[in-house]
Amino acid sequence: MILSGGVVFDTEIAPRGKRLEIWIEGERIKAISRHFSHSRVSRISLKGLHIYPGFIDMHVHLREPGQTHKEDISTATLAAAAGGVTTVLAMPNTLPPIDREDRYDMVKKLVEEKALVEVLHSCAMTIEREGKELSDFEALKKAGCFWLTDDGSSIQDQKLIAQACERLVATGQLWIEHPEVAFLAEGRPLHKGKASSQRGLHGQPREAESLAVLQAGVLAGYYGVRIHFTHLSTWQSVEAVRLLKNWYPGLITADTCPHYLFFTEEDVLKENYSSNKKMNPPLREEKDKEALIHGLVDGTIDCVTSDHAPHTSEEKARGIEKAPFGVVGVETLFPALFTLIHERKGLQKRWLSLLTTQPASILGIDRGRLCPGKIANLTLVNPHAQWVVRETSLHSRSQNSAFLGRRLLGEVVATYVKGKKVYEKTSTFA
Ligand SMILES: [Zn+2]
Repeated sequence: MILSGGVVFDTEIAPRGKRLEIWIEGERIKAISRHFSHSRVSRISLKGLHIYPGFIDMHVHLREPGQTHKEDISTATLAAAAGGVTTVLAMPNTLPPIDREDRYDMVKKLVEEKALVEVLHSCAMTIEREGKELSDFEALKKAGCFWLTDDGSSIQDQKLIAQACERLVATGQLWIEHPEVAFLAEGRPLHKGKASSQRGLHGQPREAESLAVLQAGVLAGYYGVRIHFTHLSTWQSVEAVRLLKNWYPGLITADTCPHYLFFTEEDVLKENYSSNKKMNPPLREEKDKEALIHGLVDGTIDCVTSDHAPHTSEEKARGIEKAPFGVVGVETLFPALFTLIHERKGLQKRWLSLLTTQPASILGIDRGRLCPGKIANLTLVNPHAQWVVRETSLHSRSQNSAFLGRRLLGEVVATYVKGKKVYEKTSTFA
């Protein structure tokens, strides 16, 4: 099959986009050229569309096993495909948590049966994610897992973190850290600021995150292990990561999520404490939002993830205090970033790498490029289409999006995984 007429983007061969034809054979890209004159190969005309390497989202909660009323592997990966995301890294805080080989094998089997896009699965660093006893890193690595995290929380015991580092030196697995000092943050629904104080709530201070970044980062650096900080939300964390990158070159990476780049506690107030603006860490202030965007522009922050965290409308209807933390986002990851780059020119050069080559390199996978020989994961986009995020436009089992009602630019028209079309937009946008 030859895809013709589209504008191809690749961080190396076409960073600004080139009109090229892509020849796909089986799972891989066979060749890319200005024009192929093979009449026997079927052609698909993609006039007016952008062709991107399939996007990579390294922070997704699939909710299976254990919470399939919120989401499952089929619905989550359909949502991913609809968002142009062809590879996700799933978080291990399922029920039960994926903390040992047999559970890892079980979830891999489910993924094989049900997933529409590529799913890599991370495993928990501690048994039952309790932060008390380390899981068997070596055995998990042998089973094929290279990514460890207690996401949802963070190991609080510094000695245990040091032991984890000693093991990571030996195994070389990536530590993905949800940075949170529990006694400063736990259970507090909002940022410590205007919205929390007006509601009479204890808020999470920035230090709940930045202190954890510094502690974990310094320990990782001291032991020489790679650490990736996920869902950064504060200006302090951006500065902390900048410092840590100077201290420990090559060991530190970080991501943030679209909701922190679009919203602040002012939006919590504007929306009268809507629980669709409740996630952990919480929405912060203008200064934080600006620092995060600046961190993406100057390379302090390496990639953008969704922290896709589905919850049902019944769960989210419990009000800001009691509703669970988290918002869906895998479907709006790309259009949100694509919308932002039109407002922030500084992001134009880097944005594609934030969703492709950068997460690929952090995860250590051969993905994120469109060039001959690579696996044919690709995303077709109408770059001019604007759409409003509605509950009905989302494919996830849950619709708890922070972007509901928001107009976004860039419509995913079709998504290919290993050369096969796994998603195609059918209805037209109003
Ligand atoms: Zn987290």
